[in-house]
Amino acid sequence: MPIFRGLLLVAAVWLVFVISRHLLRSHRARTASPPAPTYIATVDCASCGLRIPKTEAVTDGNRYFCCTQHRDQKIHAIGDDRK
Ligand SMILES: [Zn+2]
Repeated sequence: MPIFRGLLLVAAVWLVFVISRHLLRSHRARTASPPAPTYIATVDCASCGLRIPKTEAVTDGNRYFCCTQHRDQKIHAIGDDRK
């Protein structure tokens, strides 16, 4: 009965697929880490001291500024000090 064999094969493949999918899901559920706490790194503006998110800060080397104006002011101020 080749038709019966074919149906048996299809059923076996389907069963393996369903079981492997179930195992994969339960494995993922176990290994998934809990959501990380929302921590935003902040930095102080080197010019005015305003605390801002690091991702929004304007950088000049290892210093952070709240805006390009303050960065430029600080650079010019340092330039004036050197005179
Ligand atoms: Zn500033």
